[in-house]
Amino acid sequence: MIPFNKPYFSGRELSYIEEVCHSDTMSGNGHFTKLCHGFFEKRYGFRKCLLTTSGTDALEMCAMLCELRPGDEVIVPSYTFVSSALAFLREGAVVRFADSGSEMPGITAETIAPLINERTRVICVVHYAGVACDMDAIMALAAQYGLLVVEDAAHAIDAYYKGKPLGSIGHLAAFSFHETKNISSGEGGMLVVNDERFVRRSEILWEKGTNRAEFYRGMVNKYGWCDMGSSFLPSEFNAAYLWAQLEQLDDIQGRRLHIWHRYDEALRGRLSHGIQVMMETPDYATNNAHMYYLVCPSLKERTSLMNYLKNHGVQTTFHYLPLHSSTYYKPRHDGRPLPECDRYGDCLVRLPLFYELTDKEIDEINALLLAY
Ligand SMILES: *Cc1c(COP(=O)(O)O)cnc(C)c1O
Repeated sequence: MIPFNKPYFSGRELSYIEEVCHSDTMSGNGHFTKLCHGFFEKRYGFRKCLLTTSGTDALEMCAMLCELRPGDEVIVPSYTFVSSALAFLREGAVVRFADSGSEMPGITAETIAPLINERTRVICVVHYAGVACDMDAIMALAAQYGLLVVEDAAHAIDAYYKGKPLGSIGHLAAFSFHETKNISSGEGGMLVVNDERFVRRSEILWEKGTNRAEFYRGMVNKYGWCDMGSSFLPSEFNAAYLWAQLEQLDDIQGRRLHIWHRYDEALRGRLSHGIQVMMETPDYATNNAHMYYLVCPSLKERTSLMNYLKNHGVQTTFHYLPLHSSTYYKPRHDGRPLPECDRYGDCLVRLPLFYELTDKEIDEINALLLAY
């Protein structure tokens, strides 16, 4: 069986973890945490980075930093992982789900604009498959109505919009290092703060509501409880694991792009049964090879394609079940139909894409798809 995913392992993770065992800091914000923060701040120009124990935690920090009041509204795609919405709901906000675009699963200025009213405070975009949403149009809407923009960049490491790294455009952003993402630490994530106003508070929320980070830098001579917060920071073990992966980022991205193109060259325009390959990357965006997906004409067709591949030893997965029709949210949803989101929910299927997938295996998958 060719699995859908296999987490990447560089080989250096264990020696870095051993270093942590022999050092005197195993809790968070030590040597490896600082290496990871520095890597992102330098390579992508992010104003401030804070590793978290998951992408979900990073989103929760974003929601806390937005200082929502009861009744405030947050616009979120319905075609996304639960956490993009959950983080804001936990802060007492009302979530308004926006539909996906017809050209790609991300939300667009056109699907967002009709949801904006006097209670709207935040737009949370998801760069689905690492393909940028049209951020100029979305940032312009946000500026016009005085809204904050949070980028859920869980898929979007090393991806760009008009030359700007994703995660650097909104006021705040969240990355994920879950084992299904391009770079992983098993479970892990990172908050990015681009707006200076949030920098100090982000560090306090991260450190259980205390100014301990400032104390460690020698900026204050004792630390104490000054705000809300939680234990969002990961241990040095997680950071050491992540650092081994970050050192190999270019190699990982190179291999993933090779796999992506090997699928695309074989499949684009050549599939039958009305099956389409992954959408064209818009001119303004880059492709970070997070995902290669197909869009079938119906749920029935997708089920039959996935069974065919499974019977031939290839594991594929579908993706998000629309959040607006989930068991938890359906009774809370305002009832608007979200047809594009439903279509991706029913029709999208993801092909295996991981570092160790061999050219021979890709060719086998391509041959199976072309024969279908
Ligand atoms: C993976 C993912 C998350 C959550 O990240 P975790 O690290 O698993 O908590 C959030 N949003 C999107 C779009 C994701 O794909």
